[in-house]
Amino acid sequence: MQTETDYLIIGSGAVGMAFADTLLDESDAHITIVDRRSAPGGHWLDAYPFVSLHQPSAYYGVNSTELGSRRKDDSGPNSGLYEMASGPEINTYYSKLMHQRFLPSGRVSYFPMSNYTGEGRIVSLLSGAQTDVTVRRKTVDASHFAPDIPATHTPGFAVAPGVRRVPPNALPQLWLQLAGRTVPQKFCILGAGKTAMDAAVWLLRNGASPTSIQWVVPRDSWLQNRLHTQPGLEFFNDSIGGEADKLAAFGEAESIDDLFLRLEALGQMLRIDPAQKPTMFHYATISTGEVELLRTITQVIRKGRVLALERDAMVLEQGRIDMDPDTLYVDCTASAVQARQNSPVFQGEKIVVQLLRAPLVVLSASLTAYVEVHGGDEARKNLLCEPVPFPKDLAGYALASKVSMMNSFQWSQDKQLRQWMRSCRLDAFGKMVAELDRTDAQKQEILVRLRTNGAAAMANFDRLSETGQAATATQSA
Ligand SMILES: Cc1cc2nc3c(=O)[nH]c(=O)nc-3n(C[C@H](O)[C@H](O)[C@H](O)COP(=O)(O)OP(=O)(O)OC[C@H]3O[C@@H](n4cnc5c(N)ncnc54)[C@H](O)[C@@H]3O)c2cc1C
Repeated sequence: MQTETDYLIIGSGAVGMAFADTLLDESDAHITIVDRRSAPGGHWLDAYPFVSLHQPSAYYGVNSTELGSRRKDDSGPNSGLYEMASGPEINTYYSKLMHQRFLPSGRVSYFPMSNYTGEGRIVSLLSGAQTDVTVRRKTVDASHFAPDIPATHTPGFAVAPGVRRVPPNALPQLWLQLAGRTVPQKFCILGAGKTAMDAAVWLLRNGASPTSIQWVVPRDSWLQNRLHTQPGLEFFNDSIGGEADKLAAFGEAESIDDLFLRLEALGQMLRIDPAQKPTMFHYATISTGEVELLRTITQVIRKGRVLALERDAMVLEQGRIDMDPDTLYVDCTASAVQARQNSPVFQGEKIVVQLLRAPLVVLSASLTAYVEVHGGDEARKNLLCEPVPFPKDLAGYALASKVSMMNSFQWSQDKQLRQWMRSCRLDAFGKMVAELDRTDAQKQEILVRLRTNGAAAMANFDRLSETGQAATATQSA
C-alpha cells in the first residue's frame, strides 16, 4: 500500500503523543503515527500493574487535555499532595486522546501493531503487510527516550532452575497461586531504582512484614522530594520558593557532593539511608511518606550487582550470601530511564525528540512541535532546542541543569514562544508564575530571589560539573 503524510511519527508513547497533539493545534499538517504496541501510551501499557506517575498528573500527558482532576490524595504516603495517575488511568487517557481527538480530526492516520523499518516503510506485525509512506515534511523519531522496563528486560545474571524470579508485574497476581503452590512469604528485591522502591512500597502496603524483605542495593540514589514538585499556588513557597533555594545551593556549593548535602538540608533531596553516600541521581521523585516506609526494610544487601541466583544462594559482585530457597526474587534491574547519545533535534528531514528541560519529557516533546511550526530556520530551531544530557552520575545533574536553564532563557527571549508557554499545562511552574497576583509582595520577593539565584547558579554550574567528574574518575580509578 502507498500513502502520503506531512509528519511520520515513530512511537505513540508519551513523547509521540505530546508532539502530535501540539502539531495538531499549531498547524494544519497531516500526521501518521506508527507503533509496535497495540495502543497509544508506550511503556505504560506493559508497566507493572501498580505503577503510577512519580510526578503530579497536573503536568503530564499532552498539552490540550488535562490528565486527572487535580485532586489531592487524602490517604497513603502521598497524602496532601496532588494526585499521580496510575498506569491504567494513563493508558485510558492516551486511548481516549487517540480515539476522541486525534482520529476524529481527520488529520491523523494510526498504525498500531506495526514496525517502522526505515525509509518510510511500515510493516504490520500481524499480517506482514507493507505500507510505504511518502513523507512531505518530516519523520519524527519519538523513541529516543524510551525506557527499559521490567516486562521487556532480560536479566544480566544467571538464574538456576527452580529459583523463583519474577518481574514486579507478577506481584498482584500472587493470590492466584493460592490454589496450587504456596504464596511466597520471603522476598528479595533486586535493584535500587524507583521500580524497586515501588515494589517494596507495594509489598509493605499489602501486608508483607519488613522482616520478610531483603533488598539488594548496588548503589544508593539521591531522590527528589515530591513536595517541591507540586503545582497549585498553595504550594508556591515549596515549589517556586524551593526552586529559588535550590538555585542558591547551586550557586554556593563548593563541590557536587556539597551541593547534594545542601539540597538535602533544604529538604529538596532525600535518601533512604542517611548513613550511605548516594552516587546516582536520575530524577526519581518520592514522598517523605514513601521514604519512611522504605526505611522499615533493614535487610539491605550492599555487595554490588547480582551475578547469579542459585537454589540456596545469591552471588554478588562482592560476595556470596546464603538464601532461603523459598525466596521470591522481584527483579527490578531494568534501568528505566537511561543516558543516551544526544544529537541535534532538527536534522533536515528528521526530528529526534529529546529532553529540553530535565526531567520534563512531555513538555520537551510538546515544545519541540511548537518550535517545528513557529521556530524559523533550522539553526534557530536548534538554538531553542539544545538537548539536555541525561545525568550519568551526580556531576551530570549540574550539566543537565545548566542546559535546561539555557534553553529556558532562549525560550524567554522569543515573545511568541513565551506567550505559548504561559498557557502550556505541561510547564507547571511557568504557569504558576504567570498566574501570580502581581500585588502579592511575599511571592514577588521569591521571584526576585529566583532570578538572582539563577544568575549565581549559572556562574557555578561548570565548576560543579568539573569537580564532580574528577571525583567520579577518582572513585572508578
Ligand atoms: C515506571 C516509570 C515511571 C515514570 N514516571 C515518569 C513521570 O512521572 N514523569 C515523567 O516525566 N517521566 C516519567 N517516566 C519517564 C518516561 O520515560 C516518560 O514519561 C515517557 O513515558 C517515555 O515515553 P516515550 O514516548 O519516550 O517512550 P515509550 O513509552 O517507550 O514509547 C516509545 C514507543 O515507540 C515505539 N517504537 C520504537 N521504535 C519503533 C519502531 N521502529 N516501530 C514502531 N514503534 C516503535 C515503542 O513501541 C513505544 O511504544 C517514567 C518512566 C518509568 C519507566
